[in-house]
Amino acid sequence: MTHRVAIVGAGPSGFYAADGLLRSRPDLRIDLIDRLPTPFGLVRAGVAPDHQGTKAIVRQFEKLLAEPDVRFAGNVEIGRDLSWDELREGYDAVIVATGMTIDKKLGVPGETLPFVWGSWKFVAWLNGHPDFRLGPDLAQVKTVAVIGNGNVALDVARVLAKSADEMARSDIVPEAGAAIAAAPITDIHIIGRRGPENASFTNNELAEFGRLARAVAVTDADLSVAPPATDPTPEKLRKNKNLEILRSFAKNAPGSKPIAIHFDFHRPTTAIEPGKFDLVITCIGYSGVEFLSGEGIFAVGWARRGPTGTIPTNRADSHAVARQVIAWLKERDPKSGLDPMPIAVDLAGWHRIDKAEVAAGAKLGRPRVKLTDWKALLDTAEG
Ligand SMILES: Cc1cc2nc3c(=O)[nH]c(=O)nc-3n(C[C@H](O)[C@H](O)[C@H](O)COP(=O)(O)OP(=O)(O)OC[C@H]3O[C@@H](n4cnc5c(N)ncnc54)[C@H](O)[C@@H]3O)c2cc1C
Repeated sequence: MTHRVAIVGAGPSGFYAADGLLRSRPDLRIDLIDRLPTPFGLVRAGVAPDHQGTKAIVRQFEKLLAEPDVRFAGNVEIGRDLSWDELREGYDAVIVATGMTIDKKLGVPGETLPFVWGSWKFVAWLNGHPDFRLGPDLAQVKTVAVIGNGNVALDVARVLAKSADEMARSDIVPEAGAAIAAAPITDIHIIGRRGPENASFTNNELAEFGRLARAVAVTDADLSVAPPATDPTPEKLRKNKNLEILRSFAKNAPGSKPIAIHFDFHRPTTAIEPGKFDLVITCIGYSGVEFLSGEGIFAVGWARRGPTGTIPTNRADSHAVARQVIAWLKERDPKSGLDPMPIAVDLAGWHRIDKAEVAAGAKLGRPRVKLTDWKALLDTAEG
């Protein structure tokens, strides 16, 4: 008999945890559980649909799913279909990899107005998450405010600004892509509460704004600034490069392309008023739901660290936690309980969904067309 580990959440941190466990204990039996019928967490539902290179990481994750003692259990929500206590009783260890996807609030008047969207709700819609099938009405949207100075703000602004041609090889949900392409957008403001020397953008993602077909990046910010002297060298390098890119944007003329993307700094949002922008998307971070903690329960990824870090950041983090789990198991005999897992969508089910989506995409020259409806997902998984 061998130990059995439940990993709750089949996003990057869950996969890296499975990888870390199997490297030292290839004999372990691992259940990778997700509330969705599809694996890969934010790689599928968060990462921008035009960044297919980033999504290619799923090929590595698929290899883990193919391991004989790794079982995918999709459409199983812990806390709904099975309690955290049942999970703890049924497995020798439980790893919580549930991420964080509740949009943080600005806490300002006007935030609940219907034209204000949290970034998660927005990207989940255009990425086809089945819980978020309705997007904003873009038919009359000319001016957009994207509040925040991280890469999610860049993703949101870029996807709104790109032409249909530029999105043609993406896996954006077709209805969302069509709504964006048809929107009469003229101005997108990316609004930071602090200065350009504090923005969290990464260089490549910012530089992409200099190469958009129908949108020009502009800024009238004071760019004669420098990163804080206390920053570590890699941070200084990143910020200096960002300032250099922004200086190149400052030379652009706003009217030279149909859409102007304005990088506005030192503009803390104190209230959201109707009439100023037609659509406001807040990109200011996420929080998560409480999960059971205690003996034999280990958190990884965003559920452990909070919503920071890229996909690769989760690797070292999950591997470190996997080592703790292995040390914990070493002190314990395997439990001889019944299998508590009500598998609703297994690996074959996910592969049926995958195949159907890729086939639908092939007809349009796209990587895939996602199924966005719960019933369609579950029916397809069943075959
Ligand atoms: C909009 C956006 C864009 C991003 N773009 C990039 C990028 O371009 N490049 C990059 O490197 N990083 C990007 N990131 C960051 C990256 O997505 C995260 O670092 C990573 O996904 C965190 O992994 P995770 O496994 O902790 O959480 P997640 O990826 O969120 O996975 C959590 C999983 O847990 C499941 N789950 C939650 N609750 C339960 C429950 N009760 N029972 C069962 N399952 C449950 C969820 O369905 C989900 O599949 C982006 C993040 C966001 C939000």
